[in-house]
Amino acid sequence: MSESLVIVGNGMAAARLVDELAKVALGRYAIAVIGDEPRLAYNRVLLSSVLAGETASHEIELRPANWWRDRGVTLKYGSAVEEIDVGRRELKIANEESVDFSRLVLATGSSPLRLNVPGVDLAGVNTFRDSRDVDLLLTLAAAKKRVVVVGGGLLGLEAAYGLAKA
Ligand SMILES: Cc1cc2nc3c(=O)[nH]c(=O)nc-3n(C[C@H](O)[C@H](O)[C@H](O)COP(=O)(O)OP(=O)(O)OC[C@H]3O[C@@H](n4cnc5c(N)ncnc54)[C@H](O)[C@@H]3O)c2cc1C
Repeated sequence: MSESLVIVGNGMAAARLVDELAKVALGRYAIAVIGDEPRLAYNRVLLSSVLAGETASHEIELRPANWWRDRGVTLKYGSAVEEIDVGRRELKIANEESVDFSRLVLATGSSPLRLNVPGVDLAGVNTFRDSRDVDLLLTLAAAKKRVVVVGGGLLGLEAAYGLAKA
């Protein structure tokens, strides 16, 4: 029987890892990918282009659903992993479902730094990291006359460009 390999995080690293495993060890593992974003893995780098209206959101998907199916991967997206018990080789998803694993890969990426100032949790203060953020920013851009971008690095500039276009 093949070992069970669970990858937490349905991002760019997970897609690449499955691609490599399928090339060198197809069938060795029963693979499951569990991610909290409610969609197939996508190219995060292209979110700036989605925000700017230059690319449609569905066009940035890294692989179509049948690509994952053809590699025998079970996909659970829209599911946050909340607990990992390494001793029992078991993890828990937000809705209390448990998943067993013999091997576990954490491919959970990173979260944006939020400013440590009062008001940072108010409605209308958003980060720019995932496609839910892009939807929120586009809603903001449509409803508000003025948007301020804090952070003038690559992502700040791309956010400002996208928001200006929107
Ligand atoms: C707008 C933008 C533009 C960028 N441009 C560039 C660029 O030009 N060049 C470059 O090199 N890099 C760029 N980056 C950075 C690049 O996108 C990241 O380095 C890359 O996505 C990291 O891949 P990853 O798979 O490690 O993580 P991610 O792609 O972040 O995937 C991790 C996934 O794990 C999920 N996750 C986290 N915790 C849990 C949990 N408990 N349970 C379930 N799922 C969980 C996350 O929601 C996420 O979907 C950009 C990033 C952004 C946001």
